[in-house]
Amino acid sequence: MLVYKFGGTSVGSAENMIQVSNLIVGGESKIVVLSAVSGTTNSLVGICDAYFAGDKQLAEKLVEDFRPKYDKHIFELLQEQSSRDQANDLMEEKYALLKSFSVEGFSEIEERQIHAQGELISTKLMQLYLEEQGVNSALIPALDFMRTENGEPLYDEIEKRLAEVLAQHKGVDLFITQGYICTNEFEQVDNLKRGGSDYTASIIGACANAKEVQIWTDIDGMHNNDPRFVEGTKAVECLTYDEAAELAYFGAKILHPLTVLPAKKKNIPVRLKNTMQPEALGTVIGPNCDTSLPVKSIAAKNGIVAIKIRSSRMLMAYGFLKNVFQIFEDYQTPIDMITTSEVAVSLTIDKTDNLQSILADLRELGQVEVDEDQSIVCVVGQGLIEDSTIVSRVTTALNSLKVRMISYGGSANNISILIPSENKNEALNLLHSELYTTSLV
Ligand code: ADP
Ligand code: ASP
Ligand code: MG
Repeated sequence: MLVYKFGGTSVGSAENMIQVSNLIVGGESKIVVLSAVSGTTNSLVGICDAYFAGDKQLAEKLVEDFRPKYDKHIFELLQEQSSRDQANDLMEEKYALLKSFSVEGFSEIEERQIHAQGELISTKLMQLYLEEQGVNSALIPALDFMRTENGEPLYDEIEKRLAEVLAQHKGVDLFITQGYICTNEFEQVDNLKRGGSDYTASIIGACANAKEVQIWTDIDGMHNNDPRFVEGTKAVECLTYDEAAELAYFGAKILHPLTVLPAKKKNIPVRLKNTMQPEALGTVIGPNCDTSLPVKSIAAKNGIVAIKIRSSRMLMAYGFLKNVFQIFEDYQTPIDMITTSEVAVSLTIDKTDNLQSILADLRELGQVEVDEDQSIVCVVGQGLIEDSTIVSRVTTALNSLKVRMISYGGSANNISILIPSENKNEALNLLHSELYTTSLV
């Protein structure tokens, strides 16, 4: 069994959906995970914002804005009138549903139900196309098997339910399902957070003991720097699970941050491929990717807040850090970077919903300074800890910038640097010139 996942652009037009069908039909058995048509989830988020703001008229207008795009998509994708009728009926049902909510008491449960509609639409359109083409495929609803508790996948439950669902379709070896969406412990529709279809694919891969998980997107693999901000980046052939996890966590948008975990548990390779350029090698993330290349890639994450806690009570004392960490634990806020000196500790967070309460509690322990609008730039490569020149080259490359924190040695494959967000693009470009224009790669 293989698991393929196609992102928003890959299903974003009739032409691209037809390309997807060329890639999935035939060969080994597959479970194919689809995202929503590109732009749809953003629009659904906008509709929910309008409901929350009490503006039903705006919500209805945003729903109507879908019409021209989906009319065109359906007309170009499906040729038979009966399948076009089915697709149009589906869309009318969805438009009616999306307009049916009341601004009074609009809740997060309803919000999640709305967010789920994009994947429900794209998978149904794909299935209608495959049926029209005479392909023997089955649409399996993710809401029937993808189960979470406190936001975590319930692997045993998913494995059992998925096996039951697959067993209902004897003789079928192509299954289409929704990425991103799931049901939670309250049997409500929920999701795996933005970009979560990658995570769905990896969870399914682990639960179906897949031979490989393939993430098909609009670029030919994980590049050695962020192609949105740096010119001349190129695809990395091979990454270890830990390297890929660090890059995804620290901002490489090509992968949802948690994608690597389920695949790693079962030693399943994850291959990143370009839907529009399937002949390109792409990137393999897997157990056999130990290479001596010191720097594999560079990524950056925005929206970081740095907090410094200074206290004379820290001097020669134990228990201080424990008290600091306890506050972050109380507010379920993960810490990304941390550096300490004898009299102060600096750390960073990117989950800021409880920031004011955290700061109030920290002030009980000492003086607190806060810097917002920071970015973590992260240089990743399994071999970098063994090459003592890299850390000095990284700091030299950035010496014109206001570096706020440096973290090195926490893991064997990562140097993290905290800088103001306004310097992020410059930092990525400076590191690119320094690390990739010499004999390192
Ligand atoms: P999908 O809709 O297929 O899930 P995403 O937009 O989520 O696609 O991810 C693909 C995008 O990730 C690319 O178009 C690229 O702009 C961006 N990206 C950011 N960092 C990297 C990187 N290091 N390598 C490749 N792509 C990256
Ligand atoms: N459609 C969802 C999003 O836009 C999930 C995904 O594309 O992975 O975030
Ligand atoms: Mg994505």
